[in-house]
Amino acid sequence: MADLTSPLAGPDPTVGDLLAARPHLSMHALDGLVLEDVPLNAIADAVGTPTWVMGAATLRARYRRLAGAMRDAGLTPSIYFAVKANDHLAILQILAAEGAGADVVSGGELRRARAAGVPASRIVFSGVGKTADELRLALAEGIAHVAVESAEELEILSALAVAAGRTARITLRVNPDVDAGTHEKITTGLSTNKFGIPYAHAADLYARAVDLPGLLPLGFSLHIGSQIVAMAPYRAAFARVAGLVRAVRARGLPVELVDCGGGLGICQRDEIEGSPAALAGAIRAELGELDVRLAIEPGRWLVGPTGVLLSRVILRKAGFDGRPPFLILDAAMNDLMRPSLYDAWHGILPLSARDAVQPVESVNVVGPVCESADSFGQGRTLPRLEDGARVALLDTGAYGMVMSSTYNARPMAAQVLVDGGRWTIIRDRQPVEALWAADRVPDWVGPAPAGD
Ligand SMILES: *Cc1c(COP(=O)(O)O)cnc(C)c1O
Repeated sequence: MADLTSPLAGPDPTVGDLLAARPHLSMHALDGLVLEDVPLNAIADAVGTPTWVMGAATLRARYRRLAGAMRDAGLTPSIYFAVKANDHLAILQILAAEGAGADVVSGGELRRARAAGVPASRIVFSGVGKTADELRLALAEGIAHVAVESAEELEILSALAVAAGRTARITLRVNPDVDAGTHEKITTGLSTNKFGIPYAHAADLYARAVDLPGLLPLGFSLHIGSQIVAMAPYRAAFARVAGLVRAVRARGLPVELVDCGGGLGICQRDEIEGSPAALAGAIRAELGELDVRLAIEPGRWLVGPTGVLLSRVILRKAGFDGRPPFLILDAAMNDLMRPSLYDAWHGILPLSARDAVQPVESVNVVGPVCESADSFGQGRTLPRLEDGARVALLDTGAYGMVMSSTYNARPMAAQVLVDGGRWTIIRDRQPVEALWAADRVPDWVGPAPAGD
């Protein structure tokens, strides 16, 4: 099944198409593929592959574009970066320095954001299944607000706040029952999804929240899905929430905040990137007259395009019965899970300029993991690549490294941060011994028999 946001109609974008849509990448005759001002071959020579590379200058520029588009529309929303998209401390710190807060979905992410220096007053906490310990942590830190996702959680949080002698600032996360028109596995705003409070119950529950001790209800949150490039679903969802705000105010209850969530999409194959100006326009059109503070929670749009995953062709393996050959990379589904999980399409560019101009062929690009799902693209049109050729998998800055596992005893890849012309390793490649360092073998298992 194809990713609905990238209908696989028409030929694959060419090397030139992929570069043209990504101004932070360029191809040079001698240096090959360059991210910002750093040749990616230099990083692969020094650090090996697979390696994640992120561009700090690109990230700052994207943050400024998004914040600027909001300002141009007369909006000054709080911008909470969705930490689950990329939780590296350096990334969080770069965004915090630009003025971003953090949208977290676990106690671990809350601790990470604090470790990166994000003030608690700029942290919001969403998620359908927050534990009592996680809610106590949010109370102790005094975060900006907790997005409550159920009637049950509302009662629990009230009791915990009273016990802690604190007041929890909250929003109710409403499920507007709007189809975001994106892949089913990244749709979150339908009544068949587990997220949020049913629209029909939200006003009554808000009234209940106002009555409960230990809670200060601020307003409503929503988040309808991810990789959204059309504005109609946003408009529909915001209009629903605006109606809710009016209904609740008509009952004499105060509402001061609407948190519009994230979801803005990027160009992965040949989509038109989600436009910050269009999003700002949709927010303004539907919520601009309400006299509320606004917030947004972008993840993918900020970090996705800023990252690449460097890899190397281990082996060209002939296809069966005349079918396309397999290009077996040293990166796999344990590193970048999105193609296996969501059928996501990621561009692939050779690092060497000479490879980039080879005649194109149809290939199946796969990893070495022992799963048929370990594929980065079937029947992809790429310049002919030989054993040892290096490639960059594009737009892997969001939901890439954070989803990595060590399946097949494959250590976590290294991470590098580029900033203009300089670059630094920001996470060492995991040593293979670390994979079993926490294993404890009970005495009663006994020693392995001596070998012969
Ligand atoms: C994942 C998530 C986001 C960010 O989504 P993107 O598609 O990466 O922008 C924002 N808010 C909430 C509540 C989320 O769960």
